[in-house]
Amino acid sequence: MEQRHQDLIKSNYTTLVRKMTTSSVAGHLFASNIITDEMRQQIEAEKTSYDRNRKLLSIILRRGPKAFRGFRTALMKANQTYLSKLLSAGEDTLSDYEKKLAMARSLVVNTVEKRFVENKPNISDPVVRQMSQEERCRISLDDFNELFLTVVSFKDRINIHIRHFAAANNGLIPTKKGVTFSLSRWLMFESILPDIKNYLENRSNEEMKWHIGGGVYVSITSGYTTVDIRHFWKPDDALEPVPTRKGVTLNKHKLGRLLEAVNEVHECVHELNDIELCAFSESHQNQLGMLNCPECTPFGYEPKEDVSLECNVGDLQDVLNIDSDIE
Ligand SMILES: [Zn+2]
Repeated sequence: MEQRHQDLIKSNYTTLVRKMTTSSVAGHLFASNIITDEMRQQIEAEKTSYDRNRKLLSIILRRGPKAFRGFRTALMKANQTYLSKLLSAGEDTLSDYEKKLAMARSLVVNTVEKRFVENKPNISDPVVRQMSQEERCRISLDDFNELFLTVVSFKDRINIHIRHFAAANNGLIPTKKGVTFSLSRWLMFESILPDIKNYLENRSNEEMKWHIGGGVYVSITSGYTTVDIRHFWKPDDALEPVPTRKGVTLNKHKLGRLLEAVNEVHECVHELNDIELCAFSESHQNQLGMLNCPECTPFGYEPKEDVSLECNVGDLQDVLNIDSDIE
């Protein structure tokens, strides 16, 4: 198999390993003489579907010049056309993650004109509990030890934070002033970073407000050279969501540091490669699914009493305490 075809398979390795229906694909590969019966048995002998797919890929990567085309055909015959498309030529320069970023970018829209028509309550944005959480990495975003990007895993969840820290007796501690990114939210955010950079560099007169998931919005005020990333919260009596204290404002310098940190984030969070955007999930194939998703529609399409009180109470406190807190 040619190197570029091997690379194409490797760059889609994670998706293939997770999604392939092994026995069907292996059956078609055998039928078209791409693999031998013995190889097929080796594949089937593996215990989990994950291992079977890994075995299949390791075999196919070592096969001859017809293997790549045969593999794509086998995927199509096994009703996995979308996997086959991942391997189509012309896209070979894009990694899985880059394709995902492109999809994410197509989902993030400027909401300035839409005025929050389609919003809905936020699910919990965990308050940082340093003691019970494991910090995987911490990247400084300024020269004053005040603003950090951190990756924190807690139970089986991983969140990325951009957060202000404050000095305390035993070192620096995270404050509530910051943004919590679930991994899908980070993906949405990362997909608009090039646009943010452009807007700041050109001091565009356009006002932007992107929704990146849950109650988090990224906004640029016209003529300004800063970008604001912030959790919003909609009190019951308010017509529109209001900004909370949970957020950060980045100037060009800090944004530059953030852009430099993106690769480090990837190295630290391999799980980003496996993130599925909810917009492409089964449940979102009809509009109701989207409207019921707290990431896509954080403030509800109609008022509901019982949604996510846990977090919203906290958010409300943040609004109320906004003046009393030390900046
Ligand atoms: Zn959703």
